[in-house]
Amino acid sequence: MSDLPPSHPRYASLKTREKVVEGVETGITGLNGLIAQGRGEALDYLIGERTTAPGEDAERAAAAMLLLAERPVLSVNGNAAALVPEDMVILAEKIGAPLEVNIFYRTEDRVKKIADLLRSFGAEKVFGEAPDAVIPGLDHARAKAARGGIYDADVVFVPLEDGDRCEALVKMGKRVITVDLNPLSRTARTSMVTIVDNVVRAVPNLISLVEEMADLDDEELRLNLAAYDNRAALRRSVEEMISHLMGQFSVLED
Ligand code: ATP
Repeated sequence: MSDLPPSHPRYASLKTREKVVEGVETGITGLNGLIAQGRGEALDYLIGERTTAPGEDAERAAAAMLLLAERPVLSVNGNAAALVPEDMVILAEKIGAPLEVNIFYRTEDRVKKIADLLRSFGAEKVFGEAPDAVIPGLDHARAKAARGGIYDADVVFVPLEDGDRCEALVKMGKRVITVDLNPLSRTARTSMVTIVDNVVRAVPNLISLVEEMADLDDEELRLNLAAYDNRAALRRSVEEMISHLMGQFSVLED
């Protein structure tokens, strides 16, 4: 990692970028992960590089959904493995869920590296190295899933998922929670709960919310979930981007 001073105005963003670059160098993240990160950075800039009110509402709904789930599973791709491996393991432990490595351009070597990384942070159950089921409607490599993992889950948390796979999971009847800084992507529009926030903020926020809401009974959790409207939250996220940009523009005009 470079010796970027924490006082640098773009410190958090540049550190995040470095983690993805390091992920590529160590063989955890695919080259396409760099492009996804670049798109994410641009959208994060538009939203002001902070968790917005609709992002927070989505995170609260996601925490309720994870706590209510009977067979929750957390999916980890190459970018999530580079950016938030330890937090994904902590979240999995807090809700008693297994993790499953689920990468777009699958190579056995990369799956193993990600699984080993998660285990190095204490993950107890990691699926993905020996998939024994297929998700209907996807081409062979991307359809691979594990029984006991994503294939049998009722709730799947899939940060940074691609639109096709997200749609296929929803068609299987799964309740999908995603993290995507693009409120207009197919993934964002298909998921039941879309957290429009950077995964480096969203996953730590989820850990705090799951801790905070752990004592709520199922009825109270259901009320939290019922108060949430994904489409309205996506619209509010777009509005957040517009008003943030207009705010920046008026600073330039002054
Ligand atoms: P879709 O198929 O859903 O329309 P896409 O093809 O536009 O998605 P992908 O390239 O599959 O997008 O995935 C990248 C998505 O992940 C982009 O929408 C990008 O904004 C988002 N993204 C990238 N990095 C992050 C991050 N750190 N946190 C949250 N979202 C991110």
